[in-house]
Amino acid sequence: MNVSRRALSLKPSSTLAINAEARRLKSQGIDVLSFAAGEPDFDTPELIRRALIDALNRGETRYAPVPGDQATRQVIADKFARENGIPNVTAEHVVISSGGKQSLALLFQCILDFPAPGEAPAEVILPVPAWVSYAPQIELAGGMVVEVKTTAASDFKMTVEQLRAAITPRSRALVINSPSNPCGTMYTPDELRAFARVVQEAARTVAPNLVVISDELYEKIIFGGIPHLSIGSLPEVADRTITVNGLSKAYAMTGWRLGYAAGSGDFGLKISKAMQTLQSQSTTSVATFELPSIRVALTQCHQEVEQMRQAFASRATLMFDLISRVPGLVCPKPTGAFYVFPDVSAHFGKRDKAGNVLKTAADFAKSLLTEAQVACVPGEDFGSGGERCCRFSFACGEEQIRAGVARLQTFVASLA
Ligand code: PMP
Ligand code: GLU
Repeated sequence: MNVSRRALSLKPSSTLAINAEARRLKSQGIDVLSFAAGEPDFDTPELIRRALIDALNRGETRYAPVPGDQATRQVIADKFARENGIPNVTAEHVVISSGGKQSLALLFQCILDFPAPGEAPAEVILPVPAWVSYAPQIELAGGMVVEVKTTAASDFKMTVEQLRAAITPRSRALVINSPSNPCGTMYTPDELRAFARVVQEAARTVAPNLVVISDELYEKIIFGGIPHLSIGSLPEVADRTITVNGLSKAYAMTGWRLGYAAGSGDFGLKISKAMQTLQSQSTTSVATFELPSIRVALTQCHQEVEQMRQAFASRATLMFDLISRVPGLVCPKPTGAFYVFPDVSAHFGKRDKAGNVLKTAADFAKSLLTEAQVACVPGEDFGSGGERCCRFSFACGEEQIRAGVARLQTFVASLA
């Protein structure tokens, strides 16, 4: 007996798989230095943890409303208005889900349709390299990914001309992820404003149903002098943008599985209702006793967030300085998130000590792990352009960064 073609066609998340492999090797006593994890190494701030324990002790253990309770949705709506300048968002517009990953999965399901027989699929414009889960989520919802290729030379950023050229009458969504996983770079406010104008123009002419999905999970982890701007705050596209965020990165809460999304006005309400319907038939809600922690995180933890941001900022400088000295590795200076994504293709065609020829980023990462016990994520699953690159997370201590890049340097020197 078989499982479905849909499940069979899907590849597991490579970021999670490499994390698991690094963890397995460590548990066997192998001295692996892992740069694979896409999660902060900090503990969740104490105030947030205490709010959960208090909620449990008050007996808040029964079903919560599907999108989360009113008080927490209101705190999120206020955050979107105050911090992001997103207009016309009320508590009713907000849906809380099990991680930004679930918010995005629901969103694609609510925006895309499977094509009718003979019809071309709906297109989703995705600047790549991009986080590994967008493409599978889009395809599971019946959409087709239209990759916009970027390279290290242009800071892995899409240009306005590229965006314009990617839009067709079938364009249904544009995904923006700034700061970017895996690229570690950000769009400037002017670049986002230019995208908004292009989207507005396209919506008036060729692509009336075009929406913007803005994944702002790394909004708080910025250090390159570029301010974060929510594209959903721009009048040109505010009524066709859904903003996704979550607590995983900013508050070191990856294991809590908390994400949320909202769009403005009438369209935002429609999307909110549709997401709630889907969620009501799948996971119901997040854990009831986590809801007070969301309120505490968003209103009382600015200092903790700032401390973590500063740590990421100095790690970013260290990581970039060290990586830039490794012969053949080319990477833009990180400005946000906690990743560098060097192009390692200068070493393709060389042999490692065991005699294997490194032809791809996957070969490079595999050999680096075997020969130098350094784990990173090879870029193949991040889309076109990624196959030349490997992602190194610097969500780890400075000592590990120094030791890991020293190993990387020795490894590269050993290639012949
Ligand atoms: N978006 C981006 C860009 C990510 O890197 C991740 C992975 N952490 C997510 C969304 C989803 O994160 P989570 O489900 O933990 O909120
Ligand atoms: N987003 C993180 C990463 O890219 C966590 C793993 C995942 O959800 O993909 O490593």
